[in-house]
Amino acid sequence: MTLSTNQKRIFNAIDSNQPNSQWYNWQWQIKHCIKDLETFEKQLNIELDEEVREAFRRTVKKFPMSITPYYMSLINTDDIYNDPVFKQSFPSPQELITTDYDMTDPLHEDKDSPVEGITHRYPDRVLMLVSNVCSMYCRHCTRKRQVGSKDSIPDREQFEKGLAYIRGNTKVRDVLLSGGDPFLLPDETIDWLLTELRKIEHVEIVRIGTRTPVVLPYRITDELVEILKKHHPLWINTHFNHPRELTNSSRKALTRLADAGIPLGNQSVLLAGVNDCPRIMKALVQKLVYNRVRPYYLYQCDLSEGLSHFRTPVGKGIEILESLIGHTSGFCVPTYVIDAPGGGGKIPVMPNYLISWSTNKVVLRNYEGVITTYKEPDSYEPIFCDRNCEKCNLQLALEDADESKSVGISKLLADHNDTISLIPDTNDRHSRRDS
Ligand SMILES: *Cc1c(COP(=O)(O)O)cnc(C)c1O
Repeated sequence: MTLSTNQKRIFNAIDSNQPNSQWYNWQWQIKHCIKDLETFEKQLNIELDEEVREAFRRTVKKFPMSITPYYMSLINTDDIYNDPVFKQSFPSPQELITTDYDMTDPLHEDKDSPVEGITHRYPDRVLMLVSNVCSMYCRHCTRKRQVGSKDSIPDREQFEKGLAYIRGNTKVRDVLLSGGDPFLLPDETIDWLLTELRKIEHVEIVRIGTRTPVVLPYRITDELVEILKKHHPLWINTHFNHPRELTNSSRKALTRLADAGIPLGNQSVLLAGVNDCPRIMKALVQKLVYNRVRPYYLYQCDLSEGLSHFRTPVGKGIEILESLIGHTSGFCVPTYVIDAPGGGGKIPVMPNYLISWSTNKVVLRNYEGVITTYKEPDSYEPIFCDRNCEKCNLQLALEDADESKSVGISKLLADHNDTISLIPDTNDRHSRRDS
């Protein structure tokens, strides 16, 4: 591979005495992350407006900047203020605007944390924050509260506390490594951590969330891939937000991971001014699938402090899904989710396809606007489920049965549970009854 004109200029401005091949060294990239305005301007060979400079200085006091030379080289300086890479990486004074609804930890990741570094929100899986370090500070980071505050790798002792929690909870069958970026850990630490997790019998799968294929694709080295391959079943989710981010370098990183048998997913965030457009999102998801990455989630931008300028109405996400479902391959379509403030978790949101129904017919509409009916069976003998699988004709092997108790709406629907309504703890009518 040869460097693009942009990359050559940046490289020479940083390190003209080194051979070009250093550009592809991920540690070199990290060492030369751009953190100040003067370097940013010099390397891109631009002069920003004075008010932008002034705003930069104010903003980085609260939310610092860090951009890898690689990611910065993707900025198109001809129209820099509208550039999607610039908007995701360069501080905006709008980050200093806080609204009444902004929160430092909207997802209650800290509150739902039984031990430091673990968030246990769902019954069968945990989030484990294994790194406080990122190469690029995404301006839309949901964990902005932590960015740059303690750029340190947790020590073995803290990892051990998290591992002990997982070992002690046999219900945890899925461990999600996130951060920070787990791939900023040294190879040996990744290998050790995955080995320790693999030793735990009830941990069926491990997932890694990383943005390195987008902002630091050279991190996906042959050596790293050899390590990852040893620890299957392993899944990776990455974070592309715009089709421009799928470059030759990032494609190569994705190819290496996919060739190693790792299923790849993508989590995008819906960002005003970056990707809040049905055509951009369609191009993105199709390019991802072409590169063997399955669009997994499209996140509504959450209520973390400093993100107000990135937020769109929920209707924008629904409009985007409307333009995807039916119009392109089913596995190009991500699930659009709102991560509920207060720790409620991810809630999927969709356009409505079920228009009406009667006792034996449903009325549906398709993506083209065709309204159609589906005739339901005249007789369907519901089988009363008392969770006694031995007496049931369906052949669930008992050892496969999930013994966890029913929760939420599925509890209301269950035959074997008498609950007829879900009532908030603080319901006035009920507290009057009690007293
Ligand atoms: C997103 C998330 C998960 C994983 O959720 P999936 O829907 O299984 O991808 C697990 N724990 C926490 C705290 C999360 O935020």
